[in-house]
Amino acid sequence: MLEEIFKIRKYPLGFTSMAFTVAIVGRPNVGKSTFFNRLLEQRKAIVEDTPGVTRDRQYGIADWNGKNFYVIDTGGFVPDSEDVFETEIRKQVQVAVNEASAILFVVDAATGMTDLDDAMADVLRRSTKPVFLVVNKVDNNERLLEASEFYSLGFEKVFFISAISGSGTGDLLDEVTGLIEEDSEFEEEQGLPKFAIIGQPNVGKSSLLNALIGEERTIVSDIAGTTRDTIHTRYKLFQKDFVLIDTAGIRRKAKVHEDLEFYSVIRAIKALDEADVCLLILDAEKGITAQDLTIYSLAAKKGKGLVVLVNKWDLVAKETNTAKEYEKELKQRMAPFNDVPILFISAKEKTRIFKGIEVGLEVYENRKRKIPTAQLNDIMLKAIESYHPPVVRGNPVKIKYITQLPTVVPSFAFFSNFPDDIKTPYKNYLENKLRENFNFTGVPVRIFFRKK
Ligand code: GDP
Ligand code: GDP
Repeated sequence: MLEEIFKIRKYPLGFTSMAFTVAIVGRPNVGKSTFFNRLLEQRKAIVEDTPGVTRDRQYGIADWNGKNFYVIDTGGFVPDSEDVFETEIRKQVQVAVNEASAILFVVDAATGMTDLDDAMADVLRRSTKPVFLVVNKVDNNERLLEASEFYSLGFEKVFFISAISGSGTGDLLDEVTGLIEEDSEFEEEQGLPKFAIIGQPNVGKSSLLNALIGEERTIVSDIAGTTRDTIHTRYKLFQKDFVLIDTAGIRRKAKVHEDLEFYSVIRAIKALDEADVCLLILDAEKGITAQDLTIYSLAAKKGKGLVVLVNKWDLVAKETNTAKEYEKELKQRMAPFNDVPILFISAKEKTRIFKGIEVGLEVYENRKRKIPTAQLNDIMLKAIESYHPPVVRGNPVKIKYITQLPTVVPSFAFFSNFPDDIKTPYKNYLENKLRENFNFTGVPVRIFFRKK
């Protein structure tokens, strides 16, 4: 219902909208899984658990010469009866065509061409996506000669490989990754608001994402090196496009001596760096922890917008002023920068979760706010007139004019005869006046004093 109202647009499970995705299709036993595993090597990254289906498809992230792309192994069990065969193939190919940017159609040189290969080729030839015919199990030169029969399937791009030994796979991957535009993901996301969903383990990040997306999502990562520490998902809500950046559900399999907490903080920082606005999720029963405050002040220091979402509000016994008092206490702990929206939500009961996003979008707008110079001077000079900077060494400290700098984070330069003599309390006064007169809620603002 809500999903309908807000018209959520979603992309395949946790995948970035524009990420390059390669699907592997082919009849059973041609070597799809073998090739899939070779592509991923130790990087076997993402497993989708689809309830009721033992092995529908697998997702993974591959890396070839520094280019990352998603791989889908459509594997699939294919039952025996001819009719079901056809439907299953159609289904498998449909998945590939829908979700993939390119298709690897795998056939088997050891068995030679079959009717099923023919049937799949028929469907794939009609696809608008680029199709690479991959003739597998070409383990020796003899096989290579036999394998040439597959040219008759009529595909332009034909590669002979051995998934087991890896021979021929390099040329294939060069060609496939040649289709990936540099930074296409980055370009696509340019200019869209980016929200990081950050919080301690178990505060409800996954639950919130699932509630927003409207479907279960399980992403398991046991990546040895570094690949993705964050997942970007593009949404449309309130007629606005934006990107959610999360680290929920990515659980790095720790080596014996590694500290899981450490990595969760590192990931939070990465997510923050990539975002414009940070949605900091707290557990209502636990309140704000020391680590939350560290992340909070880090976000402020980095000039990110902030919204605090107090989750699991359904578990809190409420009296008349519970929320107000809770908010007051939080703001005390968050000081000095506490002009930040605080919302009480429940991911479980889906209360105010969309409000959370709406407020995030407002904060995003506040962060972009540019105050016209005339208006800025008009209001701020009056505020300065009614409360002057303290006199230092008998000299009146004057502020002549103010200008907003063309920076991403709202920054203001106050031009003064003695800029070094203006101290923190007065700076705080100016910041409060800016906040009173212009809406910078959720946004850290910067104030500089310059010589005039
Ligand atoms: P899938 O059903 O298409 O996923 O096929 P699998 O990856 O499970 O492979 C089917 C069989 O073919 C397995 O016994 C593999 O070991 C074997 N196989 C895969 N690739 C090669 C290859 O390049 N050469 C040879 N000789 N066997 C292979
Ligand atoms: P994550 O580790 O931050 O991703 O947290 P999860 O989403 O896995 O949630 C941790 C636990 O809190 C799960 O048992 C959830 O069912 C529960 N939970 C999440 N949100 C809420 C909520 O709003 N209310 C209640 N009562 N439980 C919640």
